[in-house]
Amino acid sequence: MASVWPQLENLLDRVQKPARYIGLEQGMQRPEHGPDTVSWLLTYPDTYEIGLPNAGLQILYEILNERPDAVAERSYAPWVDLEELLREGDVPLFSVDTHRPAGTFDVLAFNLSAELTYTNLLNCVDLAGVPVHTAARTEEHPLVLAGGHCTYNPEPMADFLDAVVLGDGEEVVAEICEVLGEWRRSGRPAGSRPDVLRRLAQVPGVYVPSMYDVTYDGEHLVSVTPRHPDVPAQVEKRTVADLAEFPYPKQQLVPLTEVVHDRLNVEVFRGCTRGCRFCQAGMITRPVRERPTAQVEQMVRDGLARTGYDEVALTSLSSADFSGIESVVQSTVSGCGDQAPAGPVSVSLPSLRVDAFTVGVAAQIQRARRTGLTFAPEAGSWRLRQVINKLIREEDLYGAVSSAYSQGWRRMKLYFLVGLPTETDEDTLGIAELARNCVELGREHTANPSVTVSVGGFVPKPFTPFQWFGQNTVAELHRKVGLLREDLRRSRGVQLKWHDPKATLVEGIMSRGDRRLGPVIEQVWRRGGVFQEWSEHFDVDRWLTAMADHGLSPDWYAYRHRTEDEVLPWDHLSAGLHKDFLWQDWRDALDELGLEDCRWTPCYDCGACTGYGIEHVVASAVPPAGGSQGTGQDLATGGAVPVDLRRPMAAKAAS
Ligand code: SF4
Repeated sequence: MASVWPQLENLLDRVQKPARYIGLEQGMQRPEHGPDTVSWLLTYPDTYEIGLPNAGLQILYEILNERPDAVAERSYAPWVDLEELLREGDVPLFSVDTHRPAGTFDVLAFNLSAELTYTNLLNCVDLAGVPVHTAARTEEHPLVLAGGHCTYNPEPMADFLDAVVLGDGEEVVAEICEVLGEWRRSGRPAGSRPDVLRRLAQVPGVYVPSMYDVTYDGEHLVSVTPRHPDVPAQVEKRTVADLAEFPYPKQQLVPLTEVVHDRLNVEVFRGCTRGCRFCQAGMITRPVRERPTAQVEQMVRDGLARTGYDEVALTSLSSADFSGIESVVQSTVSGCGDQAPAGPVSVSLPSLRVDAFTVGVAAQIQRARRTGLTFAPEAGSWRLRQVINKLIREEDLYGAVSSAYSQGWRRMKLYFLVGLPTETDEDTLGIAELARNCVELGREHTANPSVTVSVGGFVPKPFTPFQWFGQNTVAELHRKVGLLREDLRRSRGVQLKWHDPKATLVEGIMSRGDRRLGPVIEQVWRRGGVFQEWSEHFDVDRWLTAMADHGLSPDWYAYRHRTEDEVLPWDHLSAGLHKDFLWQDWRDALDELGLEDCRWTPCYDCGACTGYGIEHVVASAVPPAGGSQGTGQDLATGGAVPVDLRRPMAAKAAS
C-alpha cells in the first residue's frame, strides 16, 4: 500500500513540530508487510511527545516485530493543526514508521491510560477512515483494540472498541495474532467479523464488549452477561509471571525532538503491594514481579550504549522498593564498563519513597545535577494518611526533606490529593502546614528554600477500595483549593499548583461510568472536543451539554456513593482482586486502619496471587533498607504466604 508521505511532506511546513510525524528515530523499525503477517498499528491517543516514551507501546512494538507472523508500526494523535490539513487534503491517519495509511492495518491498537483521551481515540479512528462504531465495521476494516489502565472499566467506550486487553500484553498479543492470522488466511469472507470477535472473546484476558448484553433497572445496572455460552461470564486480566522473560524494550526509541521522559527508561519491577487505597495502578498490577538485578544492570549497560543517553530512569510504581536498587545504582554511577557513555551517568527514580534512605540513594544518583526532589505524602494529616493507607509519618517526611536540604537540594515538590474520603478542613490545611514546615527545615541549610505543593482532585477508580466513594463536587474542590491558597498567601517559599476541578469531574464520570456514556463521548468529539487533557482545549461545558442532551446526570455518575450490593459496570471483569477484600479494605479505611505491605508480611488473600497461583517475585530475599512502610517488625517471607486471616494493622499515631 502506498505511503502518504508525498502528500504529508507538503503539509509539514505549515504545522508546529513537524518532527512529530516523520519517524526516523533511532530504534525505529520498517517491517516488511506480507500476506502472512498480521499488521498492528500501535497508536497513542495523545501527542507524539507524550506517547513516544510510553513503555507499553515500545515493548509491544518490539515483541510483535520479532514474530514471523506479525508486523507493528506506530502512530500518535495528530495535533489540531495537522488534523485540519489532513481533513482538508483528504489524507488519512498514518504510521510514523512507513507512513502507511492507518486504515490498511489489521489492528488499530490504542493505549488508554487517561479518560480525557477517549475523544482522541474516536478522532484517530475517524481519521483512519474507519467507522467509529464497532457495529458499523465490516471485514474491510481493521479491528479497534485497546489496552492500558483505563480498560479496567472500558464500558463508556464499549460502542467504539472491538476488543479490550486486560493486564500485561506481552503474551496475549501472540494469541491475538493467531486468531487474526487465521482470519487473514481465510480471506476475511463477508460476514465473518462477528465470528472473529467471538473467537477473540475466548482468548484469556480479551474482553469483547459487543459479546455481552447489558440490562438496567431504571438508572441502575442489573447485569452484564455473555451472549454466547463459549464467551466467559467474567474476563480475567493477564499477568506475566516472570518479567525476566521479557527484557524489553531492547532498542528504546531515541526521538529527534523533545519528548517527556527523554532518557533511557528501564522497568525494574511491575506491581505494588503497598496498598495505597486511592491508587488503581498499585491494585491492578499486583503482585510484585521484580526483574533480576543482573538483568536490570545489563539492560542499563546495553541501553546507554545503544541510545547515547547519559540519564537512566529506573521505572516502576515505587522504584526505591526494588530489592536490587543499591547494586544497580552503584554499578550505574560508577561506570558501565567499556560501553559507558563518555561522561557521568545520572540515574533518576521517578517515584521516590518518603524516607531518608531514599534521599541517600538520590544523593548518590544525582551527584552531578541536584535538580529538585519530589515526594508524594498525598494527604495533609496522619489521620487521613491512615485512611488512604499511605503510612508516612510526619517525621518520615521531615527527615527526608531535611536530609535532602542538607545534601544540597534547594527545591522540593510535594504531591497531594484533595477530596479524599473523610477529609476535613483540618486535613486540607495540614497540607499547608507540612509545606511551611519543610521550608523552615530548608532554612537551616540554605537561604532560599522552596517547596511547590501540587494538588490534584481525587477521582475514585475501579478495582480500588475507594470505588464506592462519591467524589467531591467541583465547588467543594474549589473551596478546598481556596482554603489552601488563603492559608499559604503569606507563606514565603511555598508555591501552590492545582489541577482543574472541572477536569476532575469529567474524569470521575468516565472512570466509573457505564455504556450509556458512549453517545456523550461521541457528541463531545463531534463538536470538536479533542485533546481534552490539554487545558487550552478542555471545555467542561461540552461535556455537561452532552450529558444533559442524553438525559444523564453528572452528579449520579461522579458524586454518588455506591452501596455494597450495587452492580458495578466492571464487575464482569477481573483484576484478580476479590470484591469482598476491597469492601473490607474500604471499611478499614473508614475506621482509619492501615494495612502493611503484603510483600513482607503474611498475605491478606486479596486474590491477585492466590487467584492465579503466582507469587511475588523478588530479586533479593530481604527487604531493602527502610523497605517496610509500617511498624517494620515483619521480615521477608520471600513470597506470598496464603493465610485465611485478614490481619488489619492498627497503625500507630505519629508522635
Ligand atoms: S494475594 Fe496476598 S500476597 Fe498477593 S498481593 Fe494479595 S494480599 Fe498480597
